[in-house]
Amino acid sequence: MTTPSSQVPESARPVGGNGAPYAGANPWPNSAQAGQAYNYPAPAPLPGYSGYPGLSCRFCGSVPAEQATFRGHQGFFVIMRFLKLEGPFCRSCGIATHRRMTAKSLWQGWWGVASLVINPITMLLNVPQRAKINKLAPPRPDAASHPADPGRPVFLRAAILGLLVPAFVIFAIVYSVQHNPSYASVGDCVHNKNATATGITDTHPNVVVIACSDPDADAKVVGKVKGSSDGETGCRPFSDADGYYSQEQGSDTFTLCLHMLKSNDRA
Ligand SMILES: [Zn+2]
Repeated sequence: MTTPSSQVPESARPVGGNGAPYAGANPWPNSAQAGQAYNYPAPAPLPGYSGYPGLSCRFCGSVPAEQATFRGHQGFFVIMRFLKLEGPFCRSCGIATHRRMTAKSLWQGWWGVASLVINPITMLLNVPQRAKINKLAPPRPDAASHPADPGRPVFLRAAILGLLVPAFVIFAIVYSVQHNPSYASVGDCVHNKNATATGITDTHPNVVVIACSDPDADAKVVGKVKGSSDGETGCRPFSDADGYYSQEQGSDTFTLCLHMLKSNDRA
């Protein structure tokens, strides 16, 4: 272990040396939340410990150990929790902690608008921390307490399915933008899902943007007038417009000037 002992936090050092037990049940007072969440065994002294000049694992007491901080994120709509667990960790306990944190974030880290951004950043912050742990030699077998079992890599756990959450959100946003008439531009085609024989001029239209090659395309957008729902006036400059669709939603008010498609118009 190359870290000088002067970098070892006072609270993380065994008391008395010479194998004397740690002071108190929990020499890491800031780890209460982590202790509850992970339920690791209390740290135990190394047998024959006599002032090893480096760090020992906060969970099992093994050496070598490295200082690292792993983070996780939980987002529940308006409530967010930022999980943080500081070392020192031996290699086994460090990998186990990183995998647990990541698995938790993969399931619970996406459920809020801000969390969708914070969660990937949180997981990226763990990458250099994990790299430090990966460089450690395996824990020496003489610690009083067993190092944690790192378990399976995260990509082999069910938690990896949590990645489907942001994938679905991105898909839903892209789908919505692609089909929402608010984002239609000249040259796009529209379809009225509530169409009757009268087509797009139905009184309660449910208009979506679709491909012009789609047999369901009812009309082509030949003009877009923002801020106006008066199609009669707004579409007058567009000579090939023979219909219109207006939407009035606060600041999102617009009119699409439409050229109705006959079947042979469809490109
Ligand atoms: Zn350990």
